[in-house]
Amino acid sequence: MNQQAKPEMQYTTSQGSYTMGEEPYLLTPGPLTTAASTKAAMLKDWGSWDDDFKNITAEIRSRLIAMCGGQGTYDCVPMQGSGTFAVEAALASFVPKGGKVLVLMNGAYGKRAAKILDYIGRDHVDLDKGDYLPPMPEEVDAVLAEDPSISHVLAVHCETSSGILNPLKGISDVTHARGRKLIVDSMSAFGAVPVTVDEIPFEALVSSANKCIEGVPGFGFVLAKKDALEVAKGNSHSLSLDLHDQWVYMNSTGQWRFTPPTHTVVAFLEALRLHEAEGGVEGRLKRYSQNRDVLVNGMEKMGFVPLLDKMWLSPIITTFFSPNDENFDFNRFYNEIKSRGYIIYPGKLTEAESFRIGFIGALDKSVMEGVLNAIAESCAAMGVTQCGPPAGVK
Ligand SMILES: *Cc1c(COP(=O)(O)O)cnc(C)c1O
Repeated sequence: MNQQAKPEMQYTTSQGSYTMGEEPYLLTPGPLTTAASTKAAMLKDWGSWDDDFKNITAEIRSRLIAMCGGQGTYDCVPMQGSGTFAVEAALASFVPKGGKVLVLMNGAYGKRAAKILDYIGRDHVDLDKGDYLPPMPEEVDAVLAEDPSISHVLAVHCETSSGILNPLKGISDVTHARGRKLIVDSMSAFGAVPVTVDEIPFEALVSSANKCIEGVPGFGFVLAKKDALEVAKGNSHSLSLDLHDQWVYMNSTGQWRFTPPTHTVVAFLEALRLHEAEGGVEGRLKRYSQNRDVLVNGMEKMGFVPLLDKMWLSPIITTFFSPNDENFDFNRFYNEIKSRGYIIYPGKLTEAESFRIGFIGALDKSVMEGVLNAIAESCAAMGVTQCGPPAGVK
């Protein structure tokens, strides 16, 4: 049971009665398990035009700018929708119609960025490293050297499909040395993996409410150079996703252009304050890294094998190969673990059967120990004794 929940927090709805915190832990890359006070912040209705709500929006924006050290030269533009809406908004607003993007791909989210560029009619070239290899700075440099028409590089910080933490600093260095602009999808890393603009002077960085800051879903946000926001006018093909327009309107009125997800926004401010109380990015990185170490070591002891070499394992999520045991069945495994109070995540590899376990959300080491027990019991219940992958997979 989620310890932060107070026992008196019981609710009755048409879908039944429940006690806050009794739901299974989400070991997923978001939506994720949130703190009780983050959920409690949503039990109030807000007028989107009211000064109290405007102040909340303003506080969120300035806290996010401070998180990347961007005070003065960067601004923060929140955007309604899931994270992908914000990625699409950033690509449409910052890549001019005649621009060309080098998309660094090693999983589903790099592929999705390329698909967005196809939809919105922006030219792109892809450096595709497959399922689990990082795009290395030397390779990026070589592509940029060969093609001066590339204006932007799109990098995925943590590729959530495998859990790999890509070498963002090196990619940033070569991109800027070649005079190109960097757009970062840091959806699943921002808030837990340090990114500061003095080290990584990105043009724009995109993240969302329901990842490492531990809010609930409903909006994304873009941190961007003010200069880039200025010149983005007229680039977007879409009214609702036009970041320049949202930025100008928000700065002049304090409001979102169209209906904001008010409850989500208020919950997010609570999540940001909890983030600060935990010691900011450093504090969060420490807890997530500990979660990863406890979980990965425990899994290896049982014989499970992670997809990635240790140096590329993010503190966000890890992919494990499915056991090469005839009694293993993912759906049964999932449901056995769920019945013990934990939700894991299916794999997204093209070449081998796999599953993923996340470390982010209001979870600590004791939750990781709990899921390890649940996995051991589930294997026993299924008669799975051999937890490693088939020979030759790794
Ligand atoms: C979660 C995530 C997104 C956005 O996904 P949505 O389902 O639209 O919220 C984008 N990129 C990465 C790397 C992610 O982890």
